[in-house]
Amino acid sequence: MFETIEKLLILQDRDQKISQIRGQFASIGPERTALQARATATQAGLEAAKLRIKQIESEKKRLELDVEAKRTLIEKYANQQLQTRKNEEYKALAHEIDGCKADITKIEDAEIELMEQAEAAQKQSVIAAKEAADAKKLVDEKISDLNACEENLKKELAQLEANRAELASAVDEVARSRYDRLLKSKGGRVVVGIQNGVCGGCHMKLQQQLVVTCQAQKEVVTCSNCGRILYYTRDMDLALVD
Ligand SMILES: [Zn+2]
Repeated sequence: MFETIEKLLILQDRDQKISQIRGQFASIGPERTALQARATATQAGLEAAKLRIKQIESEKKRLELDVEAKRTLIEKYANQQLQTRKNEEYKALAHEIDGCKADITKIEDAEIELMEQAEAAQKQSVIAAKEAADAKKLVDEKISDLNACEENLKKELAQLEANRAELASAVDEVARSRYDRLLKSKGGRVVVGIQNGVCGGCHMKLQQQLVVTCQAQKEVVTCSNCGRILYYTRDMDLALVD
């Protein structure tokens, strides 16, 4: 094979490897962020469950104070009953006392409901705590793996890039700068074979003269349509498929 093309293909292989490793490297940051978000979300779930327990407890205390206040009122009304001699007033106080008792019954019902809620909140908190602990363990492990992977990729990339400079310097300068320009503007594969008489990059039919020049393997030939560098090997089919 034409030596310049051969060296360009080696360089292209290297560049594709570098680009692949860079892609892997770039995906690590977002992956780590997503994992951290997962751990944060389960932790937030646990905090919410704990907060719910606290809210229920303070609600329970409030109800207890309400009951106490009603009992104090009942006591007050009972004392007033002892002091009064007016039947009407006595009856009115009895009515107030009944009202307070009814209120206490309602509050006690609410307390029972609250106890059920407290039980459910406790259960939820235990589940949330386990979820948060499990998520943290898993996330810590995965992040540690990602960090190790990142380190390896960094090393591999440094090696590939150092070696890339060596491979590039071995290529004829004109061909190399053309290759570099193409790589910058098009990315991906810019040294392409001829298949069935068409450019392996843009798939446009090539002029016969171009194919013949390429086949002679004496100079670097580029596609007149997309500008990619063309190459030929014996197993390539030059005939156009009709
Ligand atoms: Zn082309």
